[in-house]
Amino acid sequence: MSAPTYWQPEAECLERGELEQLQLERLEATLSRAYRNVPFYRRSFEAAGFDPDEFRALDDLRRLPFTTREDLAANYPYGLFAVPLRDVVRVHASSGAASGAAVIGYTRNDIRTWSNLVARGLVAAGVTKDDVVQVALEYGLFTGAFGIHDGAERLGASVIPASSGHARRQIRMMQDFKTTTLVGTPSYALLLADTMAELGIDRNALSLRHGVFGAEAWSEPMRAEIEDKLAIGATYHYGLSEVMGPGVAGECLQHRGLHLAEDHFAVELVDPATLEPVRPGERGELVLTTLTREAFPVVRYRTRELTRLLDGPCPCGRTSLRMAPVDGRSDDAVVVRGMTVFPAQIEAELRELEGTDPRWQLVVELRGALDEATVLVEVSDAIFFDEMRRQAELRDRIERRLASELGVLLKVKFVQPRSIGSAAGGGRWVVDRRSR
Ligand code: ZN
Repeated sequence: MSAPTYWQPEAECLERGELEQLQLERLEATLSRAYRNVPFYRRSFEAAGFDPDEFRALDDLRRLPFTTREDLAANYPYGLFAVPLRDVVRVHASSGAASGAAVIGYTRNDIRTWSNLVARGLVAAGVTKDDVVQVALEYGLFTGAFGIHDGAERLGASVIPASSGHARRQIRMMQDFKTTTLVGTPSYALLLADTMAELGIDRNALSLRHGVFGAEAWSEPMRAEIEDKLAIGATYHYGLSEVMGPGVAGECLQHRGLHLAEDHFAVELVDPATLEPVRPGERGELVLTTLTREAFPVVRYRTRELTRLLDGPCPCGRTSLRMAPVDGRSDDAVVVRGMTVFPAQIEAELRELEGTDPRWQLVVELRGALDEATVLVEVSDAIFFDEMRRQAELRDRIERRLASELGVLLKVKFVQPRSIGSAAGGGRWVVDRRSR
């Protein structure tokens, strides 16, 4: 029995003209719903002199203001919902959780669309209903795990909600449950491969065939390493919580870029400095507008993620635009173990903690395959030379606080006043020593 090539062939292989007509209709509906139901969009449309009833062509979208992460945070928690809370069946939050997070709502239809889009991406990556899918992503407010979970279940695969961490337990599950598909971050896949090597487990003793990875920037050499060490085919998957979660774009087995779900998202690529569209083939910042989201429509969301758009037909038969894997950001955020960390968040937390000086620096390095992030914090001489126990207490308190607010574990190391030197003064809050 040959596996189906597409999950929703009628949508995935839609002729370009029909696709653009569909986008136009859905965009009109989205803009008018956002205008009617979300005060933020009403104000921003009016300020731009934009009347949704006069929307005629896809290019009219460019007349609208962008929506930023700060806009989402300013409307925390439910200010951008376009439906009453009683119609919302799920709530997630963007990476970074708690303060300053975007809270995203889903209606029942939104959840159905989401799971179908994830299923599309999984099918494109070669996954079928006969597969056993191990979801090695953190289950919680973040969209990754639940999004993949629902999509794999919709596809009819057997889903193992393994969550993240506990490498040995993950490997045990892969062996015992005969996992065929691993979903997680690429660096975690490498960690699992290295742990298997340490334990003397032969990669060929596993049933693993596919790996679908995302949530952090990675590269072709890393793909080759994962494929070699785990004896699998690895594909890129892309999504972000602010517009939905996973399922926004997924690579097919041709490995010619990630197919964007253009029937559900209008895609723009802009120069992050001028905010003008980049020329075809040029690198730019991805800007997305949702076309079907009911609870949480987002208009011209600046993802801050840098990519290139690839057009021309893909041999797989899908007609959508494709994007190159994300290879950077246009802001100062840094992705640590699949979580987006903003320097401003660390700054805000440190300012609230008594006894710490706001001079600090985040150093991200690779330890084996995994990111290791350390926040260097300047403390007063009194604290620096204080007894070890009290120093350790303060350090633990800061680590716990950062972990609970940012959703990722950062080590904290105290340093003496003025020891961070010119780096902080030069605006380099983040020193990224990883090279992938
Ligand atoms: Zn393709």
